[in-house]
Amino acid sequence: MEAVREGDPLGAEALGARTTRVRDAMHEVGVEALLLSLGADLPWLTGYTAMPLERLTMLVLPADGDATLVVPRLEAPRVTEHPGLFSALVGNRDGRLAISDRAWSTFLLQLQARLPHARWLPASTVTAPIRAVKDSAEIAALRRAAVAADRVATQLVGGEVPLVGRTEAQVSADIGRRLRVEGHDKVNFAIVGSGPNSASPHHDADDRVIQVGESVVCDFGCTMAGYCSDITRTVWTGTAEPPARFRDLYAVLREAQAAAVDGATVGTPCEDVDGIARRIIADGGYGDAFIHRTGHGIGLEEHEDPYLVGGNCTALVAGHAFSVEPGIYLAGEYGARIEDIVVAAGAGPDALNAVSHDLALVDA
Ligand code: ZN
Ligand code: ZN
Ligand code: ZN
Repeated sequence: MEAVREGDPLGAEALGARTTRVRDAMHEVGVEALLLSLGADLPWLTGYTAMPLERLTMLVLPADGDATLVVPRLEAPRVTEHPGLFSALVGNRDGRLAISDRAWSTFLLQLQARLPHARWLPASTVTAPIRAVKDSAEIAALRRAAVAADRVATQLVGGEVPLVGRTEAQVSADIGRRLRVEGHDKVNFAIVGSGPNSASPHHDADDRVIQVGESVVCDFGCTMAGYCSDITRTVWTGTAEPPARFRDLYAVLREAQAAAVDGATVGTPCEDVDGIARRIIADGGYGDAFIHRTGHGIGLEEHEDPYLVGGNCTALVAGHAFSVEPGIYLAGEYGARIEDIVVAAGAGPDALNAVSHDLALVDA
């Protein structure tokens, strides 16, 4: 495909194999053409990223036949000015067309006006189950991102990241800087929740000053050569033993996280992995304090299929990459979360993050 950039680290061969899998799925689902613009599907398939512009960039991939890449021409910015797009879609006027989930509605509305009998689906219907299963180049990319994130998590649990006396926002910025030093291209988030804020799973990082004798949940993720990292470690500030209840909470969490990783074997339904963590946390007496799903898929996007959540009966297959990140949150007091990225594999679950789960007492 001509849109592939030279020197694409993923290589033309991997991209060609993805196209074959996508076309097979299009035949299965009954989709005549896939229309990709914004979002991760286009770079995943071609190595080419569309810019979020009012001028359209779109790949039209018919189930059979040649793909067409529509790119902006300054003098013809709109969909309706693209004869190439419509000639690529001839023969699909009554068919089922799948368009990027994140395509602008302005383009979709124009396409619908021009193709009133076509039926429309989100592209994820075709691409999400395929993208969820990573090939070896993608697993290598996820591993490189995880190893870089691990270096920063190691600094955190080793007391190299100053915490006490700084605001959460300062620590978050520090972690972000360290992630870039370790080779990440873009910091997606660096959550720092201290003290009572550690009991809020999606607390961002604010101007609360971190004290001695507190739980600090640090959850950070970045993008490196297109692929995401995402890791959480919880530390306790100071050298004094944390309260018995926190130690108990952390021990239950640690057991739940490890058991869920071990249980993420090929053939296990996603919801069962969630169930493993949930049962251990409930048995430990914290069932009401585990208030989110156990994990999410990861790849070109921070959150993608498969989701480890009750109701998702999808069985894990080799190549599924996802987080395992249970948490226990006692509102107003403290909380903890442990998160690793895991790839399902024939030889057993492959945890990409290797930083210790011991509760680190951090004198920093
Ligand atoms: Zn999240
Ligand atoms: Zn995370
Ligand atoms: Zn996550």
